[in-house]
Amino acid sequence: MAEERKRKPMIGLQSDTDWSEYRGVMVVVEQRAGVAKPVSWQLLGEARRLADKLDSPLLALVIGHQVQGLAREAGYHGADRVYVCDSPELASYRTRPYSRVCLYVIREYKPEIVLMGATYAGRDLAGAIATHLPTGLTADSTQLDVDEERLLLASRPAFSEKMLATILCKQFKPQMATARAGVFEALPRDETRSAEVVMVPPQIDPEDISTQVLGFVESLERGNLEDADVIVAGGRGLGGPGAFSLLKELADALGGEVGASRAAVDLGWIGHDHQVGQTGTTVRPRLYIAVGISGAVQHVVGMQNSTYIVAINKDSEAPIFRFANYGIKGDLFQIVPALAQAVRARRSGGLSPEGVLEQVSAAGRGE
Ligand code: FAD
Repeated sequence: MAEERKRKPMIGLQSDTDWSEYRGVMVVVEQRAGVAKPVSWQLLGEARRLADKLDSPLLALVIGHQVQGLAREAGYHGADRVYVCDSPELASYRTRPYSRVCLYVIREYKPEIVLMGATYAGRDLAGAIATHLPTGLTADSTQLDVDEERLLLASRPAFSEKMLATILCKQFKPQMATARAGVFEALPRDETRSAEVVMVPPQIDPEDISTQVLGFVESLERGNLEDADVIVAGGRGLGGPGAFSLLKELADALGGEVGASRAAVDLGWIGHDHQVGQTGTTVRPRLYIAVGISGAVQHVVGMQNSTYIVAINKDSEAPIFRFANYGIKGDLFQIVPALAQAVRARRSGGLSPEGVLEQVSAAGRGE
């Protein structure tokens, strides 16, 4: 059976294809239960810029079940045309059915650039597609651009993250890349925009449905940093793993997640899933609170796009203060519990914003 499957070819492209027919920048929208991953809209924002530079349409591909709403959302976020493949069999992500749809759309509609989020599913899907196309794939890009020859310039850290390599695929189309979440900015959602919707027939081969997704159980351990609106991150200044419970209290009070510097992760105080930075997750929350983190460049590149950055550090010379909108100088063991308490009091209506500031300032002064 396995041998038979191996011999059965998926849809491929011939290497003598006329590549000049390939036009448009396409983003594959990733969704779970009808909710798009923010990286999809961030990629549409960046892809809009590339498409405008190439004078090409911006395309989106939405795969799933009952995803018409997402097709509209893709339009609100900048897409000119949205390909929609809707089937109960596609409700949950599975590699082979999803890659068949992508391969069909690429062969049929010939986008010159295809972009996906560098998430678990995006990496899996992009890799699966690339093996069936005579083209390359740049994984985990942190910068995207196009040149005057319409070549995609996909840049990513290389050689143990010591340099940024720009990778080109000169001979084949589509040019493909996955890109990290949190690096690019989504366009403001604009409900006056509408995109042309093109329905795509599902490419279901019963042979592909060898696994059934029965449901998802959210991990209690793993933080979801990429999608978090608020992140409270701790570093070596915490002095040990125990202090992360203080950060968790503050994160819970703010409805956020706990992040960490690499130093804290390397010391084994918290899992790598929580690491923010160059070799961790790139984040873009509305609020990032850096606690006992010095502000090394490898950390800052992963969080500098946060809307508001608050730094709590006992060293007034710590570089993190240069990137912070608000800095609190003092001992984190005084400040973090006071801040958590003040946030809870504020949420229950018992404290004014000025009262929050006063409580936290007093804690900073060690009172
Ligand atoms: P430190 O630099 O030791 O800072 C601790 C801070 O805590 C100090 O500023 C101190 O003043 C403060 N502090 C101490 N006690 C208290 C207290 N009681 N109250 C308040 N403040 C206190 N780092 C990352 O974070 N993410 C990455 O992805 C990453 N990738 C890397 C990739 C490469 C190739 C390399 C070479 C390095 C990478 N690093 C990364 C490591 C980075 O260079 C720094 O070493 C690391 O970020 C430092 O972590 P830190 O700020 O927690 O620790």
